[in-house]
Amino acid sequence: MCMTAHSAVSTVSPKFDGGHRPPLQLSRMIVRARIVVTMDGAPIDNGAVVVSENRIVDLGKFSEIKARNAGENFDLGEQALLPGLINAHCHLDYTCLRHKIPPQKSFADWIRAINGEKSELSPEDYVASIREGFAEAKTFGTTTIANLTALPELIPQIEPPIRTWWFAELIDIRAPERANEIIGSAVESLGRAGPEPVLSEAEGGARWGLAPHALFTASKELFRRCEEIAQHENILLTTHLAESREEMEVFRDASGPLYDFLKSIGRPADDCGDNTPLALFVGALGDRALPRWIVAHLNELAESDFDLLKHTNSKFDIVHCPRSRNYFGHSPFAFERLRSLGFNICLGTDSLASNESLSLFAEMRTFQKEFPSVSANEILRMVTVNPARALRHENALGQIQPGFGADLVAVPCSTSTDIFEQIVAFNAPVSWAMVNGNVIASVPGSAGC
Ligand SMILES: [Zn+2]
Repeated sequence: MCMTAHSAVSTVSPKFDGGHRPPLQLSRMIVRARIVVTMDGAPIDNGAVVVSENRIVDLGKFSEIKARNAGENFDLGEQALLPGLINAHCHLDYTCLRHKIPPQKSFADWIRAINGEKSELSPEDYVASIREGFAEAKTFGTTTIANLTALPELIPQIEPPIRTWWFAELIDIRAPERANEIIGSAVESLGRAGPEPVLSEAEGGARWGLAPHALFTASKELFRRCEEIAQHENILLTTHLAESREEMEVFRDASGPLYDFLKSIGRPADDCGDNTPLALFVGALGDRALPRWIVAHLNELAESDFDLLKHTNSKFDIVHCPRSRNYFGHSPFAFERLRSLGFNICLGTDSLASNESLSLFAEMRTFQKEFPSVSANEILRMVTVNPARALRHENALGQIQPGFGADLVAVPCSTSTDIFEQIVAFNAPVSWAMVNGNVIASVPGSAGC
């Protein structure tokens, strides 16, 4: 029997409901596509994936899959089926700020501008903005997101339609004596985020984390306390590091527009004038703590930083945000050097206060323009396999494999060019998407038999 995408939508809950959805009418669903891009070995022509409840349970050539599985067939037609995309760094709080802040002369001016915009927003505006962001991310085939929010108290009002790692963004620059209190209330809010579906006991770890905003906005005590909680609760940490030239100037030279701005709001300058941001970060935490950190940006690195990274025994994960980097005009991201040092590198969109959309396809294309020698396959890994690893879910997300979560997206394809090139070039809403076994997006008429 053949089922259209539209009828597939009607058989499953469209909402991501924490794994407590009503039983599916279908025990097994066989999803056939022109090509299945597993990100684990060669793509499979005329392939199929079998989904049972929230898991992938089998995959292979359609003819073989049909012979060994009973279940409803759903034919995506001339489409490529790939793992759902993972956005490793995003702030959905600011979805409503798209096109509101033109590029500024200095990073400090941009901080002033976003602070001005934020002062106009009510909690209701933020909730609407976050919801709008989720809807957009989903449209572009993102099925997992690492989302930083400065308002963790709003989390209980939001039902994410996709897998979400909530990171509470923490800033204590105006009240360093309140670091513990700020963290405590964030952790309490994160605890109210509601149950998340467990993919496997072995995966472990909560799907929330803490995000001291940056070295220049979060105190040493705040970083230290977050690290302590992360060890205790087995959670991840993320921060912005070495993003702008002005951040480098703050810490290495004790000068520049950002330094002046920070001074004007009373930030102590006792850690300024000696070290690069990276040296301060690595020096303060030590090797032991590094693997818990997902570090966003790292655009501004000195030669001494590369030496430091070379001799660092353990590695953190890195998120590069290509379009946000372009918007700000930061230094070029040292992709090849960081990759050769063995770092796991992912892509992220950052927020719409410095980007135009939440499309990871657009992010891949921008990266490809910057690094034309990197294969499209490797670029796709930066929004699938690599971020799954950064989120400690490399055995559950980011690939199409038996036992992995049923997070899948489909994009139209042809036989004319390399499939990975076609995926990176894809520039539209995805035609079909599934998260945790639920079809969450389907363009009527895009899939047929
Ligand atoms: Zn960011």
